Amino acid sequence: GADLPVAVVTGANRGIGYEVVRQLADRRHRVVLGSRDLDKGRAAAARLDPGGERVTAVRLDVADAESVAAMADRVTRELGRVDVVVNNAAILYDTWAQARSADLAEVQQALDTNLFGAWRVTQALLPLLRRSSHGRVVMVSSEGGSLHAMSGGTPAYSVSKAALNALTRLLAGELGRDGVLVNAVCPGWVATDMGGRGGRPVAEGAAGVVWAATLPDGGPTGGFFRDGEPLAW
Ligand code: NDP
Repeated sequence: GADLPVAVVTGANRGIGYEVVRQLADRRHRVVLGSRDLDKGRAAAARLDPGGERVTAVRLDVADAESVAAMADRVTRELGRVDVVVNNAAILYDTWAQARSADLAEVQQALDTNLFGAWRVTQALLPLLRRSSHGRVVMVSSEGGSLHAMSGGTPAYSVSKAALNALTRLLAGELGRDGVLVNAVCPGWVATDMGGRGGRPVAEGAAGVVWAATLPDGGPTGGFFRDGEPLAW
């Protein structure tokens, strides 16, 4: 398995991230399953890949710069290259809140994970991504971050995802020369702990993320997609 493409997925012990790991492993990737709780990450990896050949759990709290740096060091030592980064970890779907009265300490927490987490992880893995000839970065975003859809509710979450979309555009512009494709993906409304009941199956939401993680060379960059179809910013 030494020449399989290497993927790093954040927040992958449950929900959409976990399913993205499964689908990437099925598509012959070597996957680093990031989890802020290493025991949960190890249990998830063991369920997905009992033999431990394709999936490796790594402790990764995206809100903690030291944890991100330690993860990048380990991947550098053990794998030496990264082809795919899936920034999936996110918190705080604050349905009950309104921008005019939002608790800004909570907003800050959301930004630290949903925005700065993705930013930190991408920066830390950039030297490894540059070693790939097919680098792909996927920002797992949400249509809740679309400016046209922003009419109230979930202020922390929506602002974090709007900013993540902006970061997607900036990085896509900067990394184009290195052949790294950077896109934002909305998985749709998905039945997970965050999404609650009633949403689409996790496998369907994850498939749109995996699509962006496995784009062919010359594929789109700097875009926003759901199920492989463009979304309005
Ligand atoms: P879940 O709440 O089910 O899972 C979130 C995952 O992120 C968990 O593994 C959680 O770990 C992890 N996480 C949270 N904070 C951190 C952190 N600081 N460092 C590392 N990992 C962290 O969410 P979903 O699977 O539903 O969501 C995945 C992505 O999809 C998110 O970006 C979300 O915004 C997006 N999305 C989801 C939608 C839906 O309907 N479900 C709709 C639109 C977008 P732990 O178990 O330790 O808490």
